Amino acid sequence: MNAAPHPLRERAITILADLVGFPSVSLQPNDGIVSYIEGWLGDHGISCWRDAHEDGERFNLLARIGPQEGPGAESGILLSGHLDVVPADAAGWEDDPWRLRREGGRLYGRGAVDMKGFLAMALAQAPEFQAHAGSLTEPLYLAFTFDEEIGCFGAERMPEFLASCGAKPRIAIIGEPTEMAPISGHKGGMELVTHIRGAAGHASKPAEGVNAIFAAARLITFIEQLAHECAGAPHDGSPFDPPHSTLSVGTIRGGEARNIIPDSCSLDWEIRAHPGEDPHLLRRKVEDFVATDILPALRATHPDCEVVTEMLCDVPPLEAREISSAADLVARLWTNQAPGVVSFGTDGSYFQAAGLDTIVIGPGGMAQMHQPDEYITEDAIDEGLQFLGRLLDEMSGRAG
Ligand SMILES: [Zn+2]
Repeated sequence: MNAAPHPLRERAITILADLVGFPSVSLQPNDGIVSYIEGWLGDHGISCWRDAHEDGERFNLLARIGPQEGPGAESGILLSGHLDVVPADAAGWEDDPWRLRREGGRLYGRGAVDMKGFLAMALAQAPEFQAHAGSLTEPLYLAFTFDEEIGCFGAERMPEFLASCGAKPRIAIIGEPTEMAPISGHKGGMELVTHIRGAAGHASKPAEGVNAIFAAARLITFIEQLAHECAGAPHDGSPFDPPHSTLSVGTIRGGEARNIIPDSCSLDWEIRAHPGEDPHLLRRKVEDFVATDILPALRATHPDCEVVTEMLCDVPPLEAREISSAADLVARLWTNQAPGVVSFGTDGSYFQAAGLDTIVIGPGGMAQMHQPDEYITEDAIDEGLQFLGRLLDEMSGRAG
């Protein structure tokens, strides 16, 4: 783009610099960034609701602009973004990951693209929406969630939170970076960890111990077989790449020394279910194998042996719908490109579960997510601002 900078570009970049300055890594208390956003919105006459996690340290935030009563109030369009970011190991970065660095048309910092950039654009545009609050045909909602990166734990609370605020938006736009291409569906994500307890002993006397790593190896082989079975049964006409559910083992930990029979081993694994498939069915197959095969073998000599699987998160898939007012809205505002699908999860599943027609679209590239020297371009900031400006025109009846 060679167009003149968007008039709100500098405002958005200033906000982005402030947001990047909060190291809001998942699971950490987030009162700092939440208070900052409340402050900015409050200074512009926009009120917010907080939703506190049971620990009292992590919050979702919801803001509303526009009609509070009348027919339009029972509707609305919601923009959503997550407040948390993945960790940043400073060693891989050219500079401090928690200080926004502007260089050559790029803005570097942890969360710059995933997804504080979108938050900054929404916050930069919020006063413009507020200035036209009287002419909005329905409310604009801004939703900020915690702990998306580790399982969408904030968004999981959203259906209830929205209801408790009397918010009834009909459309959700999740501003994850898609280079402004609409995404209407994604796979689910289930993350699991399995702990195997065997019995220690000297490696020279295998009959005296129970080797937890051997047991883990058999379990891993079983999970791999399941993954092959899924690959062998692709969904006809699926838009996903690959067109089937996937399973993977990501880490394995166990053992102390070569000559000691390891008494414990843990593995992290995951199931990404293709929409229309139940990940719990796959999970149960693994658990049945543990119950009928692995455990009896372990306990034959040591009855104390144990295999425990914890489910760390279970994000449902986002189901692409053929008729979608969210997709129609994006087509009117931005692009006629048919909505696509991605194989990673977003908060969108929970907004869909709450009855909102949901679409994922946002500025910036997926390739920059979760990387050292993560960045968003100034052009992408302009694009996002322009998109939101068109949304304002549409909602205030100034479009066309
Ligand atoms: Zn994200």
